[in-house]
Amino acid sequence: MENKILGIHHITAIAGDAQRNYDFYTKVLGVRLVKKTVNFDDPGTYHFYYGDEIGSPGSILTFFPWENIQRGRIGTGMATEIGYSVPKGSLEFWNNRFKEAKVKHGEAAERFGESYLSFEDPDGLLLNLIATNAEDNRKPWTTTDVKEDAATKGFHSVVLTVRKVEPTAKVLTDIFGYKFLTQEGNRYRFVTDANATANIVDIVEEPNGNYGHNAGGTNHHVAFRAKDDKLMMEFREKVQSAGLNITEKIDRNYFYSLYFREPGGVLFEIASDNPGFVTDEPVSELGTHLMLPSQYEGYRSRIEEWLPVLNQ
Ligand code: ZN
Repeated sequence: MENKILGIHHITAIAGDAQRNYDFYTKVLGVRLVKKTVNFDDPGTYHFYYGDEIGSPGSILTFFPWENIQRGRIGTGMATEIGYSVPKGSLEFWNNRFKEAKVKHGEAAERFGESYLSFEDPDGLLLNLIATNAEDNRKPWTTTDVKEDAATKGFHSVVLTVRKVEPTAKVLTDIFGYKFLTQEGNRYRFVTDANATANIVDIVEEPNGNYGHNAGGTNHHVAFRAKDDKLMMEFREKVQSAGLNITEKIDRNYFYSLYFREPGGVLFEIASDNPGFVTDEPVSELGTHLMLPSQYEGYRSRIEEWLPVLNQ
């Protein structure tokens, strides 16, 4: 069988205050902190992973909270919107919830025949809740306030904004196995049949759009999903054959990674499903301990002292 990307694995964004980020995602949006670790390339910074109960691929939104970071600029050459799948009929609940919590949000609208509600997180990151027409049987993480009839089920889609659609589209179709589905104005929808969920990428073409500046409230990269690290490495060859630079295989403890910049400027990652987030904490305790990769374990007390206190 042809090796195709299985949709989105995770999306990583930049936040400011760690506590504010934690409160927004776990309390207002109602997703679970499944891993509290540090940025492996900058261990003085947290790396938070939010997702469903076990941090299933396709549900994971991750943040580097850098205290006092400037606000970035959302623009071309980056992922510009994150789409979560929510149950049909739940947008009114969310509208009211956002109003009460003073979350900046739009009015329910329609795109590609699906209702959605857009909102911003406290750092200005753009997200949408999409009441999808497609069947989505994923089990959501629920809280006392956000129950099954409204809870997010993981990603629906991601939006990439670029100056020219074709070069980015070519990576999706020729390397990842996506197909062009349909178009609304300057928004082109691509979908993979290798998975039923988190399987949509929209490319927005803005020929004269300002380039984005990667800082607070912007997306850092989008990770696409390979079943395991062996299949992941097949994509490495395909990316190289297309004349693009790609990193060596990197061990991220919870998955393996490859990174490359697609021609439109968006930083892409390919990440494996294995080994997953339950390798070093029991499911019931995910996200409650500070987990450090072995190379930083010897510096634990210094790192703990350095990191801002997080009230969970
Ligand atoms: Zn990543």
